[in-house]
Amino acid sequence: PLFQQATYLKSAPNLGSCPEDVGYEVAFAGRSNAGKSSALNVITSQKSLARTSKTPGRTQLINFFTCDEERSLVDLPGYGFAKVNINVKKAWEAGLAEYIEKRTALKGLILLMDCRLPPTDIDIVMLDWTKALDLPVHVLLTKADKLSKNQAQASLFKLQAMLKEQYPHATAQLFSSLKRQGLDQAWAKLEGWMNY
Ligand code: GDP
Repeated sequence: PLFQQATYLKSAPNLGSCPEDVGYEVAFAGRSNAGKSSALNVITSQKSLARTSKTPGRTQLINFFTCDEERSLVDLPGYGFAKVNINVKKAWEAGLAEYIEKRTALKGLILLMDCRLPPTDIDIVMLDWTKALDLPVHVLLTKADKLSKNQAQASLFKLQAMLKEQYPHATAQLFSSLKRQGLDQAWAKLEGWMNY
């Protein structure tokens, strides 16, 4: 099992500090509290892998987890920091844009969105960037257990309609870390991107 092998490798403040740009990488992004850490933990079957990324000092960094010699998962800094000043925010955006635009190993982006909330401005920015680069995106609509089955389906259909219209490079599914819902589908997407 590829993802169960994931181990923390390093944290990088910018593209220049990232590990060598080879192999296959899938990055995880989303606003703070969207459920990114929980999803990473469930996907890797590890209780606290993503806690590593949440330790003080690392939350604004690009965190690398090695799966095998040629494959890694990358935890991108969470966005939606009301209290951060504008210069920090700009630096963060520039760093993220640089990684997404220039990283050859990056084969796809997993975008975490709370299924109860509409996409945020920065979710849209991520979709626009990746569209321009033709980088595939897969949205995990997280915390699906918080809605009824019908409500969750409606939320998925609504997003899928928007993606079909404006972001054909992106796909979406429901996901619940709590119930391990959607795990097989998410694994299949990651393995496909990673040529595993
Ligand atoms: P991050 O900031 O995006 O890394 O989000 P976390 O993974 O830390 O989750 C934020 C909050 O949402 C925490 O209180 C989690 O327990 C909760 N949460 C995350 N995933 C789920 C889920 O699938 N179902 C439910 N009910 N709560 C979740």
